[in-house]
Amino acid sequence: MDLNECVTYLNAAAERQYRVSAGDVLGRQLSHIFSRQWPSAEAEAAAWVSLRESGEWCGEIVHRTNDGREVQVEAWQTLLRDAGGAAVGMVTAIRDITERERSAAELQRVGLLLDTILRTAPIGFCFLDLDLRFVRINERLAQINGISVEAHLGRHVSEVVPTLVHTLLTVTGRILATGESVLNHEFSGETGAAPGVTRFWRQSWYPVPDGAGGMLGFGAIVEDITERKQSETILHESETRMRLATEATAVGIWEWNVHTNTMRWDAQMFRIYGIAPTPDGLVAYTDGSGAVLPEDLPESERILQDTVRLAGQSRREFRIRRRHDAEVRVIEAVETARTNAQGKTQWVVGTNLDVTDRKAAEIQLLRLASDLSEADRRKDEFLATLAHELRNPLAPIRNGLQLMKMAGVPAVDVEQTRSMMERQLTHMVGLIDDLLDVSRITLGKLMLRKEHVPLTAVVSSAVEAIRPLVEQLGQKLTVTLPQQPLVVDADLPRLSQVFLNLLSNAAKYSDPGGHIQMNVQRQGSDVVVSVKDTGIGIAADQLPRIFQMFTQVDQSSEKARGGLGIGLTVVKRLVEMHGGRVEAKSEGPGKGSEFVVRLPIIIEVSKPHASGDEEEKPVKSSLRVLVVDDNRDSADSLALMLRVMGNDTQRAYDGQDGVDVAARFRPDVVLLDIGLPVLNGYDACRRIRGEPWGKGVVLIAMTGWGQDEDRRRSLEAGFDHHLVKPLDPRALMKMLAELQVAKQ
Ligand code: ADP
Repeated sequence: MDLNECVTYLNAAAERQYRVSAGDVLGRQLSHIFSRQWPSAEAEAAAWVSLRESGEWCGEIVHRTNDGREVQVEAWQTLLRDAGGAAVGMVTAIRDITERERSAAELQRVGLLLDTILRTAPIGFCFLDLDLRFVRINERLAQINGISVEAHLGRHVSEVVPTLVHTLLTVTGRILATGESVLNHEFSGETGAAPGVTRFWRQSWYPVPDGAGGMLGFGAIVEDITERKQSETILHESETRMRLATEATAVGIWEWNVHTNTMRWDAQMFRIYGIAPTPDGLVAYTDGSGAVLPEDLPESERILQDTVRLAGQSRREFRIRRRHDAEVRVIEAVETARTNAQGKTQWVVGTNLDVTDRKAAEIQLLRLASDLSEADRRKDEFLATLAHELRNPLAPIRNGLQLMKMAGVPAVDVEQTRSMMERQLTHMVGLIDDLLDVSRITLGKLMLRKEHVPLTAVVSSAVEAIRPLVEQLGQKLTVTLPQQPLVVDADLPRLSQVFLNLLSNAAKYSDPGGHIQMNVQRQGSDVVVSVKDTGIGIAADQLPRIFQMFTQVDQSSEKARGGLGIGLTVVKRLVEMHGGRVEAKSEGPGKGSEFVVRLPIIIEVSKPHASGDEEEKPVKSSLRVLVVDDNRDSADSLALMLRVMGNDTQRAYDGQDGVDVAARFRPDVVLLDIGLPVLNGYDACRRIRGEPWGKGVVLIAMTGWGQDEDRRRSLEAGFDHHLVKPLDPRALMKMLAELQVAKQ
């Protein structure tokens, strides 16, 4: 162009650059092609100065083209001079640097972005020089290391992460030796941020080249994988737990591919079916179905086929014959179908559980519950019977008392009434004795005092006791004894009670005119005692029950003949305590009954037993007797009876009163109740014994408790004798008579 900036030449590149044709612009002002956009006025001024003074200028400038684009160019301008050196025009060469500028700016932006990413990424990043000093590190890694980004820069790894130095030296050493990256290296350790807590990382280390074939240092990407590791551990643990749980609950798991008809079992399934496990768990379908008992198979298969057809769920129970021991086991199965994309059953997954033991326990439990409620029902019945039975004798006793109070009753009537009252009372005492016995026996508190006794002594004691009743009922009793004497190891009164109970049942459950046969016979080393009657008999279905406590065969009917339903329980337990057994037989109602007791005999005859049936004549005594009892009626009636016997008596109604009266009265004998108000019997006894006058007094305890333990306590307190209430008047008279004799 000339000095006026008229275009004189334009090359093809310039035409393309500015999108003009030379023909259009030659001879026209440069401004027809573009206008210059100077960065600043100073830059423009400096450019002209340079052109003027040195004849050239070079710089970067933006040309705004006439079609509205901005083109970044690098421009050289040179003045053209003629031969005389005068300026005649200008040459401008331009290079489009728009693209270059744009990529530089882009690059810068990318760099910034990368920086941001690296700085804020949840992945740690760092760059170490060859000496292993931190050159660059991002926020995340600095955080992990527990100090700021700045505090890392220039510091050696051993200062920042001393626990990891060994790992880092190994990794970087490997990179130096091979020139290759170390990828996905996992390791664990503690960090400065959380000392004492083990964390897990995955690191990838890269060599950073210096561009000249050497190395600048090491770049690293560090990822904290602790959470992942933890969930892996949790997963692993939960899988283990699941396995242990299925093993512990004994649940077997199976899956069946319906299309290929392949079946896979877990280890437990093999155990349930008693089949040796296959390595991959694969079994034939018939391994399972073939074990099912034929009677359970059709129903079980039908349910399973329905599950396949309906793509549903099912629950089955069937029995299998276990293969290894042929034992029949009950299986509970639950299964669910898995469908394919078309909604058709592809898989069935299910469980098997051996519930044989559970079933047995359930049945046991049901039986137990029914036994319990039966026992409960019997107990209720018993209480009702008890109330009834205890009330029964009370009415005649009360009537009798009333009658005796009335004036002018003939002596013979009084005597008859008295004997009726005595009978009723004996009956009541008998009931209560039975009750106490049965409770002692069931609580295991009854101790037998066994000795070698002739069986005849036992039998006759029972026979003698029952005779009055048999006679009263107009029945016949025959007793057959063996020739040779038989000796048993027994507690005489207890064993005699066994036969008494059997005989009294025989009488009770037979009508007047009935015949009771007692037969004693030796059979080998046993003696067999049978008590047979011609009475009402026992129905076959009742036979097994009658020895149970509180059992009475027919409560409602007129056949119920008094009693508490415990006599046979006492019989059975006592016989068993003597090493024997008892059995009931009957052909049925109306056909009589037979009770057979079998006991072991002692062959060798030991010391002869005192015959014990010397009839006691009432003996008179004349002693000073003090009666202490808080039950005034008891105290008064006993004192009265003793006075009638010829004794001098006094009464007291509590323990302290007893001691005081004794101090004045100086008795020979004190009959002292134990459960007394103010001062109990034991203490009262000790006080009396403690007095100089009390040493020789005969102290007799009267109590409702007759166990060995009770006797021991009485003796310890200083009593001479221990009598169980209600006192047997004859025994007491005998004891007093002996004391009388001893005193003289
Ligand atoms: P109870 O006090 O009711 O007699 P037991 O335990 O002695 O109680 O007898 C239980 C039941 O067995 C009686 O209620 C009666 O039904 C039946 N029983 C016992 N002995 C005989 C017998 N000799 N003949 C018929 N039934 C009997």
